[in-house]
Amino acid sequence: MKTIGILGGMSWESSATYYRLINQRVRAALGGNASARLILYSFDFAEIEAMQMAGDWDGLTARMVDAARRLVGAGADLLVIATNTMHKMAAEVQAAAGVPLLHIADPAGRAARAAGFTRVGLLGTRFTMEQAFYRAALEAHGLEVLVPDEAGRATVHRIIYQELVGGVIREESRAAYRAVIADLVAQGVQAVVLGCTEIMLLVGEGDSAVPLLDTTTLHAEAAADAALGG
Ligand code: GLU
Repeated sequence: MKTIGILGGMSWESSATYYRLINQRVRAALGGNASARLILYSFDFAEIEAMQMAGDWDGLTARMVDAARRLVGAGADLLVIATNTMHKMAAEVQAAAGVPLLHIADPAGRAARAAGFTRVGLLGTRFTMEQAFYRAALEAHGLEVLVPDEAGRATVHRIIYQELVGGVIREESRAAYRAVIADLVAQGVQAVVLGCTEIMLLVGEGDSAVPLLDTTTLHAEAAADAALGG
């Protein structure tokens, strides 16, 4: 079994889910008490968030590259970045790492196409919904990607940073997400990509008229499969 290196802590709420899902997948595949070989580099998210809000993407890239090198130095055979937003610097991390980086949009894109979808909605941070880096990664799978309108994007972004990364789950926020999803469905999306690793803490299949593609689950499963040689 290969050793997975996780760039995590962004936030730890979702890194904890990655840890559980990867280990569950390895145990299901190998049986007994098997568990994943895994190294976690967990950032202080307060520092990451402050740099994001300040637009210090060069500083963030340097932090991510440094952490990736530490993981590889510690024995990681492959890397995952356990957040969608921080795939903004995926190319720089991949170039510095020298081991495969499993991009989070790839298992989501593959799952969408395998289900026959061509038009998907995307929820995530403003960075993920509004900048090209993430939509382009989904579009590379032949998908048309729709994002919420300005008010919807503001709501989705605010709830991520003010509630979900802090483990706060509110019924009114679930209702707000349901409304944003319904708007996207009204525009003809066949599925919605949960492109932020904490969103699955708030909404599930019962909150959407179309399938939800949860990047946390799909990415964690892809990491476990890659470690197992799949
Ligand atoms: N975990 C979130 C994501 O998947 C947001 C936190 C971050 O900015 O990294 O984008």
